[in-house]
Amino acid sequence: MTTYFIYARKSTDVEDKQVLSIEAQLAELRTLAKNEGLEVAAEFVEKRSAKMPGRPIFNDMLQRIQTGEAQGIVCWKIDRLARNPVDGGQISWLLQQSVIQSIRTHDRNFLPADNVLMMSVELGMANQFIRDLSSNTSRGLRHKARRGEFPGVAPVGYLNDTRNKTIIVDRKKSKAIKAAFELYAQGNSRLEDISRFLYENGVRSFYGNPLHKDRARFILVNPFYYGHFRYGGEIYEGKHTPLVDKHLFDKVQVVLARRGHPQTTEKEPKALCGLLRCGECGMGITAEKQKGHIYYRCTKKKGGCSQPYVREEILAADLSSILTRYAMPEGWAKELSRMADEDEKESSRTTATFVHGLREQVSDLSRKLDRLTDLYVEQDIDRETYLARKRGFMSEKKSVEEILSKSQRGGTPWLEPMREWIKDASLLDGIAKNDDLPSKKSSLQKIFGSNLTLRNKKVEEIPAKQWATLCVARKNFSENERSFILAPAVGLEPTTYWLTANRSTIELRRNMLLFLMITLKTRFQNKNTK
Ligand SMILES: [Zn+2]
Repeated sequence: MTTYFIYARKSTDVEDKQVLSIEAQLAELRTLAKNEGLEVAAEFVEKRSAKMPGRPIFNDMLQRIQTGEAQGIVCWKIDRLARNPVDGGQISWLLQQSVIQSIRTHDRNFLPADNVLMMSVELGMANQFIRDLSSNTSRGLRHKARRGEFPGVAPVGYLNDTRNKTIIVDRKKSKAIKAAFELYAQGNSRLEDISRFLYENGVRSFYGNPLHKDRARFILVNPFYYGHFRYGGEIYEGKHTPLVDKHLFDKVQVVLARRGHPQTTEKEPKALCGLLRCGECGMGITAEKQKGHIYYRCTKKKGGCSQPYVREEILAADLSSILTRYAMPEGWAKELSRMADEDEKESSRTTATFVHGLREQVSDLSRKLDRLTDLYVEQDIDRETYLARKRGFMSEKKSVEEILSKSQRGGTPWLEPMREWIKDASLLDGIAKNDDLPSKKSSLQKIFGSNLTLRNKKVEEIPAKQWATLCVARKNFSENERSFILAPAVGLEPTTYWLTANRSTIELRRNMLLFLMITLKTRFQNKNTK
């Protein structure tokens, strides 16, 4: 006579949600045994997943079967027994060897002779089901991310609305977070001060203490707060309400970069790391100290790169001379600021042109993002490069979109970035002349982004937008010459005679200095028609 063990299992796994409760399984199995007249020696109840081998009660049961205590198993479905190939194989093997003589489920009877293949298939399916499930789950989450829904626990300042499966603003804490950004952007606070400020305003650690300064930093660099989010290493556009605008966020990043560097530059051996790429192979430039000097060189991660070392002093001098080429003479800065002030007074006409340019810029960035994805899919670029460039484009797009939406609401939102740019540009000369490497680095990053390369001990640069214009202007005009700024542009296309750089008109139209020229032109025409 065959003796049976009853085995019931339910875990908290997602795939087990639809499975009968342990009690219900046991009730069914006892009825089944009774109806079929099966002799039950013991009942085994397990509350864990069968995804991985190593269930203690399951193993115990098999051991007792091997010692002959029972010859059959009663279970609700075969997938209760195994969901991994190890346990599945063991069950199959014991059945083939007739150690197990029968496995009874609510709808089937598995016997050594006829059902091994069938059972293998069923166990195999169970196994495949697990794999599908986990890939379905991550696919589902990625899909969610693409729709702009952050698939995770909301950062502080937000709450997960579990009912609607969305992320909503935490009314109390969001105010503290926003204020923390504003406070830090002023540039006088340490991260510890921010933790203290947050603490006083109700944002505390799990144990009710002030946040560690690393957590404070983590908040300040999280793009979630301006409307994007990171997921699986990628950055996505979120649907949630931003707490801060991109402009404020960027200011905070500048302060973080500045404060992050100790003021004593001699003690910072790698002050210029992360600024340059190798002009030959495209890898990063790193630094090392030898015999009291700091040398910069290509990491040569790709191999086969022939670039030599450069001493820091030589590199720094080279970078200073580059900065000088992009510095705005004081006279020009004054003139441009004056024109910006005038512009503020009579601006409505120019808004349309400006908005048009911004829209073009947004769609251009979207195209760039698409092209980048293509490159990545075609495996023309590696994941690291893809992610880094994507972050850059996404961030730029967000900034432009912000200015765009402000312009559409009216006002003269370009004037603020314009004024900031004039200020940045007029400070460069001073920065070029002093020895503070971190501030040189951050200025260079503003002008060139990641477009600075080092080849044969010389720095090669590709400036962005308005900086290119400024550099060309500096080449062609003396510091005291101001008339060119006032010269009217002809037609809407920027055909200003002094721009000799070989650049496309679309690119030029985007730059702010030129935009100013266009607004001047409009004003000039207005005056003429009066
Ligand atoms: Zn190299």
